[in-house]
Amino acid sequence: MKILLAATEVNPFAKTGGLADVTEALPIEWDKFGHEVAVVMPKHKAVNTELHGFEKTPLSLEIPMGFATEKCGVWEGKFPNSNAKVYLIEHEDYFHRDGIYGDPDDYFDNDRRFIFFSRSVFELAKAINFQPDLIHAHDYHTAFCMPFLSSVYRKDDDFFKNTAGVFTIHNLMYQGKFNPYRAMDFSGFGMKEFYPNSWFEHDGLVNSMKIGILFADKVTTVSPNYAQEIRMPYYSESLQNVLNEKGADLIGILNGVFYNEWSPENDEYIYTNYTPEELHIKKQNKYEFLKGEGLKEGDDFDIPLFGMVTRLTEQKGIDILKEKLEYYLDNYKIRFTILGSGQPEYMDYFNYLKWKYPKRAFINIGYDNMHAHRIISCSDFLLVPSRFEPCGLTQMYALKYATIPIVRETGGLADTVEEYLPDTKSGTGFVFQNYDKDDFGYAVDRALSIYKDKKHWDIIRANATEKDFSSERSAESYIEVFDWALDKIKNS
Ligand code: ADP
Repeated sequence: MKILLAATEVNPFAKTGGLADVTEALPIEWDKFGHEVAVVMPKHKAVNTELHGFEKTPLSLEIPMGFATEKCGVWEGKFPNSNAKVYLIEHEDYFHRDGIYGDPDDYFDNDRRFIFFSRSVFELAKAINFQPDLIHAHDYHTAFCMPFLSSVYRKDDDFFKNTAGVFTIHNLMYQGKFNPYRAMDFSGFGMKEFYPNSWFEHDGLVNSMKIGILFADKVTTVSPNYAQEIRMPYYSESLQNVLNEKGADLIGILNGVFYNEWSPENDEYIYTNYTPEELHIKKQNKYEFLKGEGLKEGDDFDIPLFGMVTRLTEQKGIDILKEKLEYYLDNYKIRFTILGSGQPEYMDYFNYLKWKYPKRAFINIGYDNMHAHRIISCSDFLLVPSRFEPCGLTQMYALKYATIPIVRETGGLADTVEEYLPDTKSGTGFVFQNYDKDDFGYAVDRALSIYKDKKHWDIIRANATEKDFSSERSAESYIEVFDWALDKIKNS
């Protein structure tokens, strides 16, 4: 199968969150299965073309934007250790900026930037003569690929007459809501297509997420549980009717972990690699980590370390954490460490915590891949108390490193972490149901009591490291959905 994947972030070239991990893992797995894969992303300022061996091609594409056309350049490269190709769309004005989506707030012209990028996907495919069976678009930024495919290129251009479109929702909260006069103009569909309850309209605005969902042949989201949750108002971010309209065409596929990068045996960022049988090395790594944070001989290195690696947004449960964390730091022997960046009020809070507990709260504001690997591998527990979580990757990473997750039962967290039951000795973590500080606190209490009990602590960690959420499995599931999408357009 020929697969063209379009996304705004792809690891290791540019990343803000889990989307980039997934758009790296899937193409590499598909390539291993023998599919022909091309990935296309914008040439952001953050992409280090020299480091990753990208080369500028002589191509200059003409991208239709409303009644006009705009030009862009193309760079070509590959993923490390894979034949899957990667193309960068070069447009100085749109993409040579400090942020991917904003800096820090959304750029005012994201409508124009992402409609341009979505359209360039088709012009690129023709220019490099890559006739895709499947176009796989990710999140609102590339959602316009779906109407471009079904209403423009599949109809008017033989090159795409057999191409199917699959749209993947990574996070329904970010919908790309735009001024209709601008977005309908840039996309070329025109205001005639924008009327109440049309596929382009939602609450009076152009809603890219809705457009991606309705125009796609199949829609996937990143865990089976989230695929169910978003059919209901609490989680649907107002799109429940649109999502329910898709019926069985909305499918949940659990994200996979790219274990080449995220396993303690071969992680290039942690202090010393270890296997599940060598958890004494994990302990030494924790000591190294704590020394790096300023602990000295004589400090107690063995008290439990709770870690977090996260974007600092309301989604991630920082509010209930804030209500409980000082209580635990004041009353229990624990340490806490976090790496994250995001909303200023959360960053302020964590800086206050650092000031109040200099030897017990280690706070790193910013984005740092090496530090992310170290927190996930060196902590005893990983906290993921999210209000909602489409899939969540860090809890799956943590399990492989024998770091025990404490999660709220939502989205993919519920699909990947099971409560540890001392009676049956089953389970891999601690799970709480309600988005509530006390429910969260009880989960922490259960975790602390198991930490103290060596027999159960050994068992839960063994259970955790045995879990396998490989990206190979999830890549296979996508191929199955792609086949269904192809059947659907053949039969239509
Ligand atoms: P989301 O996609 O909602 O941000 P996920 O758990 O799916 O959450 O994925 C987060 C990814 O981003 C993980 O690979 C995690 O290690 C990484 N990450 C998050 N925050 C940071 C940070 N501040 N520095 C480095 N990596 C981070």
